[in-house]
Amino acid sequence: MKLTQSFMNRCSSLVSRRSFLPVILVMAALILFNARQVQGQGGIEVKDAQVVVVFGEQITFQARLNAPVPIKQASILFREVNEEVTRVETLEVGEDGTVSFRYDASQNVLPPFSTIVFWYQVTLADDKTYTSVPIRFRYEDNRFPWREAVSGPVTVHWYDGDDAFGQGALDAAGAGLLAMNDIIPLSLDAPLDIYIYSNIGDLQGALELGGETWVGGHANPELGVVMVSIAPGAGQSIEMETEIPHELAHVMLYHLLGDGYDRLPVWLSEGIASMVELYPNPDYAQALTIASENDSLLPFADLCDSFPPDSGRAFLAYAQSQSFTTYLHNTYGTTGLMSLANAYVDGLSCELGAARALSTPLSQLETRWRESVLGQNVTGVAMRNLSPFVLLMILVLLVPIWGAIDIFRERRRRERESK
Ligand SMILES: [Zn+2]
Repeated sequence: MKLTQSFMNRCSSLVSRRSFLPVILVMAALILFNARQVQGQGGIEVKDAQVVVVFGEQITFQARLNAPVPIKQASILFREVNEEVTRVETLEVGEDGTVSFRYDASQNVLPPFSTIVFWYQVTLADDKTYTSVPIRFRYEDNRFPWREAVSGPVTVHWYDGDDAFGQGALDAAGAGLLAMNDIIPLSLDAPLDIYIYSNIGDLQGALELGGETWVGGHANPELGVVMVSIAPGAGQSIEMETEIPHELAHVMLYHLLGDGYDRLPVWLSEGIASMVELYPNPDYAQALTIASENDSLLPFADLCDSFPPDSGRAFLAYAQSQSFTTYLHNTYGTTGLMSLANAYVDGLSCELGAARALSTPLSQLETRWRESVLGQNVTGVAMRNLSPFVLLMILVLLVPIWGAIDIFRERRRRERESK
């Protein structure tokens, strides 16, 4: 349990695939749309449009299509608003114009709390095609009776805990915004939704996180959605003040960098997010000391694309990233950190981005960090690592020298004998 708690503030921006969701309690949400929303173009009318969502299982789209002439063919088209591919499904049209389509949400992963847009396309007997006005709805995790509290652009949603719990989460979000502002000044204008699950199982059920059991929080910056797991109780404040600012930092970085956010090395985005945590993890320092003494620190070049999948090394990766990014911020300031982020956004490699932004390659920054923060003597370590080669060189040199000495002795002996 301690292990799980020490990983409570770990997050992931990756959603892995899983073929089913173990939803035992099935709750369906019925979404109705008013007539004005669904008026078709001239020739058709979409009536009684509704969507029934059983989160993680299925989405059922229903409507009645009215047309002045018989309908030859009808389809429903839909996608998550940020997706490039639109799904197209042919519909059976009933005698009274009713259509229904059931989408299997357990196999095709739609991000939780994403916005889905759908519309109908109808070809009539006169071969004219009409398209209805697009309708949007939110694919909510409706397995829980969410409550909500709002402050400015931030809305907190929770289902376990009292009013003070929701207010505490809003306060943690506010403090996180201020902390982020100290590192990289920026403002949050877009709406942000924070969903607080009361246990890791509920959260992972929503995220379909597969094997990544150490993940305790998640940000989907594109959607402006943060999902964390915090149980009401004595530890709630500390958990809120670490997890919420951390995930919020990811969203704010995305707002600042746009699509270029995905090109940041993982150690940098996680490093900045970990710096914003209001309660730095006390176990980080110990993990760093032990790894430094055992010579088991992870090279930052290996933490550019992803973090190790196992929880032990992932924890070390977070500890190193937090310490290294803090070192960079202390050394080069906000301006340095921003130009580093921008170099990566421009597509430079992990090593070269640092060389352009800070005039020092990543490997050399890492050496300086090891020396000034961890107190390592990297130059001395390098010499020790070289010693077998130095020994070999000495041996190679000694053999001819020994031979020369031998020849010299022999000559001296002959000289003595000839006297
Ligand atoms: Zn993170």
